[in-house]
Amino acid sequence: MRKQIVAGNWKMNLDAKQSQELIEALKAQSLDSNVSVAIATPSVHLAAAVAQTQDSSIDVVAQNMHQATSGAYTGEVSATMLKSIGVNTVLLGHSERRAYFHETDAQLAEKVNTALDAGLNVIFCFGEELEERKSGSHFDVVSSQLSKALFHLKANQWDHIVLAYEPVWAIGTGETASPEQAQEIHAHIRAVLTAQYDAALAESISVLYGGSVKPSNAADIFSKPDVDGGLIGGASLNAEDFAAIVNAF
Ligand code: PEP
Repeated sequence: MRKQIVAGNWKMNLDAKQSQELIEALKAQSLDSNVSVAIATPSVHLAAAVAQTQDSSIDVVAQNMHQATSGAYTGEVSATMLKSIGVNTVLLGHSERRAYFHETDAQLAEKVNTALDAGLNVIFCFGEELEERKSGSHFDVVSSQLSKALFHLKANQWDHIVLAYEPVWAIGTGETASPEQAQEIHAHIRAVLTAQYDAALAESISVLYGGSVKPSNAADIFSKPDVDGGLIGGASLNAEDFAAIVNAF
């Protein structure tokens, strides 16, 4: 059985007090124990969030890290730094990192290697832009993103990878892929993994959907057989909404 996962991506929101309050509010919710729940906080809050979630099942995830193991990279955070404060997972390849910080597939391949070498798990984000969807090239785009950033990995390294398909046109826009569109591309992702590796590996990987998931649409999206959960932006900033999404399976 694949893991069902709901991860919140707080992006660059909430100060220290607000972060603490949101985690307390989340801990007060009753959350489906069959679902792995994670929150990706800004890096400055990670250590406090790890301490605050010790007595809960909520995982704390980093939103990014540098591809180098250490060195003269002012302002950056390394994989080993994350590990040293008790963070076990990092988001890589979010469309905002690709768009605003010009992260390339090649750079992401390096980041994935560095993360895995340091013992981190990776939630790898990818997805097509609106123009690519309109022109019908979205299947090729996601195949290429996966292939360039991840297909150098050995099969056993995939134990530490979760995929998050996030169509860029649906992120923060209020527009969501329909459950059928999500299922169609998630099935394609599994087919691509089968072709590159094998069916057993493809069936074992959790593939999350991200893009304007809310309490009102989560159950329909999560009901699709190849959708194993969600990466949640805006709605993860509200404890009740986030809990409702976790409990939507
Ligand atoms: C995201 O940033 O990963 C995301 C899915 O955002 P939203 O849910 O706000 O569309």
